[in-house]
Amino acid sequence: MKIEIQSFDELKKQYKLSDNEKAFKASKNSLTVSITKHYLSLINLEDEKDPLRIQVFPSVLEENENNLENIDPLFEINNSKSSRLIHRYESRVALLTTDICPMYCRHCFRRRFTGKLLGPISNKEIEEASIYIQKHPKITEILLTGGDLLTLTNSKLDFLIKTLRERNPKLIMRICTRMVITAPSRIDAGLISIFKKYKSAPFYLLTQVNHPRELDSEAIKAINQFVDAGIPALNQCVMLKGVNDNFDTMEELCNKLLFNRIKPYYVFQGDLVSGTSHLRVNVDRTIEIEREMRKRLSGLAMPSFMIDLPKGGGKVPLSACYLKSFNDNIYTFITLDGEEREYPHI
Ligand SMILES: *Cc1c(COP(=O)(O)O)cnc(C)c1O
Ligand code: SF4
Repeated sequence: MKIEIQSFDELKKQYKLSDNEKAFKASKNSLTVSITKHYLSLINLEDEKDPLRIQVFPSVLEENENNLENIDPLFEINNSKSSRLIHRYESRVALLTTDICPMYCRHCFRRRFTGKLLGPISNKEIEEASIYIQKHPKITEILLTGGDLLTLTNSKLDFLIKTLRERNPKLIMRICTRMVITAPSRIDAGLISIFKKYKSAPFYLLTQVNHPRELDSEAIKAINQFVDAGIPALNQCVMLKGVNDNFDTMEELCNKLLFNRIKPYYVFQGDLVSGTSHLRVNVDRTIEIEREMRKRLSGLAMPSFMIDLPKGGGKVPLSACYLKSFNDNIYTFITLDGEEREYPHI
C-alpha cells in the first residue's frame, strides 16, 4: 500500500496559490507541508477559502508572533515520563508512537513534535512504556497517538499492541488516527486483523473530522471496517475559523458523523499553539455554537465542547451556564429558550 502525498514544492508548481500561501516560507520551526492525494481530491481548488484547503495549505499567517502563544501550551513536556509517554491524568496515558503524519494539519496542537523526522517509537521505548503502565495500576486507558499511529507498519503495530497487552491485558486502547479521512486506503482487512488478535480489552477508534465534506464515501468505508470489527468510533473535532465555526456546518457534521456510526465525542477550543492564531475561534463564539447545538442536536449527536487549559491545566467543559443563581435554598436555571425555572435545595 502506497499513500500518495503532495509536497509544498509540487503544490506551488501545480496550483494557483493565494498571496498568503505563496508568502509562506518553510523554516526549521515551521510545520512540514504534506497533503495526501486523497484529501487534495476533496478540496475545491478554485476557492481560496475552501474549509478543507485552509486546514492543510500553509500560510504566511503561521509566522505571526503572539506572546500569549507557546509551542507547548499544554505543558506536555513537563508531564512526560519519557520522550514518548505523557501521563497527565491519573487513569490514562498518551503514547506518542511516531511524529509522522501523511498530511500535516496547520492547526496541529502538537507541532513542537509532529513532522520532526524522529520516526516511529523504538521497540525498547515500547517495552519501557509497557513496564511503566504495569507499575501504575490506576492507568486503565492508553491513547496510541502521535503523529499518526497508522503510519506505523503493520508489523510495528502488531509488536506495539502485543507488548502492551502482555503486561497489561485489561488496558483499554484508543486508536487515534486521522488517516481514515486523509488516507482511507490504509485501512484494510490486514490492518483490522491485528486488532482482532488482541481482544483481552476493547479498542476504540478516535478520529478527527472537522468538516462534513471530509467524510466522503471512502472515509466512511474505512471507518465502517473498524465499527464492523467491534471497534466503536468517536470523533474529536477542533473549532476552526472558516471551517466549522457556524451553526449549519457544525450541525451537519455532527449529524453526518452519528448517521455513519461515529459518536461525536469532543469539540476542542483551539489550543494556544504558536502559529495557529489565524485559525482560532473566540471562546464566546464557541459557547454560542455549543448553545445552539444543544437546541438543534439530539443527545446522541451532541459532543462535549472542551477547552484544554494552558500550562497543563487539563481539559474542562466549555459551555453556557444553565444554573443562574442559588438564593434562599432555591436554584434558578435558565431553559434553552431563555426562561427561568426554579428547583429547591432538597
Ligand atoms: C486529552 C488527553 C487524554 C484523554 O482525555 P479524555 O478526557 O479521557 O478523552 C489523556 N491524556 C492526555 C495527555 C490528554 O491530552
Ligand atoms: S493528524 Fe493530528 S498529529 Fe498529525 S498533523 Fe494533524 S492534528 Fe497534528
